[in-house]
Order: sequence, then structure tokens, then C-alpha cells
Amino acid sequence: MRLSGAARIAGVIGWPVAHSLSPMLHGFWLCEHRIDGAYIPLPVRAHVFSTALRGLREAGFAGVNVTVPHKEAAFALAHRGDGAAGSAGAANLLLFQGNEIEARNTDAEGLAGNLVVELGTEGLREAHVTILGAGGAARAAVLACGHLHAARIHLLNRTVARAQAAAAALARGVRSQLDSGSWDEWPSLAPTTTLLINATRGGMSGSPSPDLPLDLLPTNAVVCDLVYRPLETPLLARARTLGLRTVDGLGMLMHQAVPAFEAFYGIRPKITPALRLELEKVLRGET
Ligand code: NAP
Repeated sequence: MRLSGAARIAGVIGWPVAHSLSPMLHGFWLCEHRIDGAYIPLPVRAHVFSTALRGLREAGFAGVNVTVPHKEAAFALAHRGDGAAGSAGAANLLLFQGNEIEARNTDAEGLAGNLVVELGTEGLREAHVTILGAGGAARAAVLACGHLHAARIHLLNRTVARAQAAAAALARGVRSQLDSGSWDEWPSLAPTTTLLINATRGGMSGSPSPDLPLDLLPTNAVVCDLVYRPLETPLLARARTLGLRTVDGLGMLMHQAVPAFEAFYGIRPKITPALRLELEKVLRGET
């Protein structure tokens, strides 16, 4: 695409950022809609994050997506934030509006959107959900499952104190019964868990997935992994071998990008099989 002098510019800021799928994802939609705009990877170290943001705002960027390790700093630097960013204490989207910065967090919306596609609008109503982790992704998962009317949510983390802190911070934001604990509680929770969500870093890029026995789950349980590199994590592979339904992390990634693209470029894009195929090729190292 040719750019005019009035092109809308956005990007993804992180360190490192070379692994990010976001430039490919937004680039696909920019081409599809023939938009006069660009989406750029912005590798920025933590100690110059606020300086870089000021520069991008002054240079006329519409905004940026934010990835590791800047999500908390992004929220702290913003002038205002949406409820999801406030609950997570972290932002994955910053919008520049005049001299002000608005923080949003679209991860919960992204996961909820994908779970609706995968399981239906009523798929989580009265469900019993176990979420592994206590970071930003786990907090987003609690909000998404609460929004979809899960009856009970258990947040289990390697470091129990972090799970307790996350549950305390989120309790007022969800109607579901929300409890926290350690992975030792898995054997008693598994038989009634209808959705297991891995929101830890376990399973990323060759690291081991959480080693919980999945044969304790009911046969109609669904196992979801927010990790998308690799697309089939060791956890999802074990679930598939047991005949359990699986949901990978790529769906959430595509869904969380929709509101960001709309905020940057003014068009709400669609998630299509062609987009997913394109991203799967990148994850398999074919492009
Ligand atoms: P984070 O804030 O750094 O939290 C990391 C969590 O993982 C903590 O609960 C930590 O436990 C746990 N953890 C780390 N290594 C572990 C291991 N080897 N075994 C067990 N637990 C481990 O990270 P985050 O931002 O929440 O992201 C978590 C994952 O979600 C990442 O893989 C990220 O790529 C993925 N994610 C996916 C999407 C998507 O769109 N699909 C969106 C956001 C995030 P402790 O507290 O004990 O250290």
C-alpha cells in the first residue's frame, strides 16, 4: 500500500518485539480494507518507555498496542483508563488524544469474544472454571468468564499470594463466585471443572506446560490455553489425546486486536478463516 502524508500510523511497543504477530495481523486488515495507514513494530527498552511514548504522541501516532514488559507502566502513565485496564492494573492499548493518553485493556474482551465463537453465547453460563496463573492474562480470563456468567471461578497460581491478591482485586468486578489457591487444589477441583484455562507462561516456546493430570476432568470439559506459540501447547496436546475439546490462544489474539484496529483506523475488522490461516503459517515458520 502507498502511504499519503495523512496516513494513520500505529504500532506495537515492547522489548523484544520481533516475535509479535500484531504487525502481521493489523497489516492483513490494512491491506484488506485498503487503508491509508501503517502498523509498525517498535522495539523499546523499559528505561526509555515514557520518552518513546512522548515522541510517538508528538509524531502524530494514533496510538500503540503494548506488550511485555510495558503493560503495567503503560497503565501507570496514562491519564485515564477503562475498567478492564483498571482491574488488570495493566494496559495493552494506548490511544493518543491531544495531550492525553487513554489506556485500555482488550484482553478480556478478546477472550470472551473467542469463547463465544467456540462455545456459544450460553457456553459458560453456570460453568465451573479453573484458571491457572495470576498475571495480566489470568486477570483478563477472570473478567471474561465472569462476563459470560460462569457460576464459579478458581484462580490457582504457583505463587499462591499472587492468586489471592488478584482474586481480591477482581472480586468486585465479577458476579461469579471467585476463589484462589495453589495447584495442590487441582485434584479436588478437576472433577467439577468444565473449563480449564492456562493463563501462565508455561508452555511458551518450548517451556513445559503446567503438569496437571487432565484425566481427572469430566469428559465434556474444555481445555483452553492462552499461549499461542506453539499453537498446540503440550497441555493442549495432552487434552486432545484424552479426547477433550481444546481452544488455542490464537483466537483470543485475533479478537483482542479487533477493538484496537477500530480505535486506530476507524473500521471494525472481521476475523476470517483467511486471517487465521495467514497467522498459522507465520507460527509454523512458513512465511
Ligand atoms: P505475567 O503477567 O508475567 O504472568 C505470568 C504467570 O505465569 C504468573 O502467574 C506466573 O506464576 C506464571 N508462570 C510463569 N512461568 C511459569 C511456569 N514455568 N510454570 C507455571 N507458572 C508459570 O504474564 P501474562 O501477561 O499474564 O501472560 C501469561 C501468558 O498468556 C503468556 O504466555 C502470554 O503470551 C499469554 N497471553 C496470551 C494472549 C492472547 O491473546 N492469546 C494475551 C495475553 C497473554 P508466578 O506468579 O508464580 O510467577
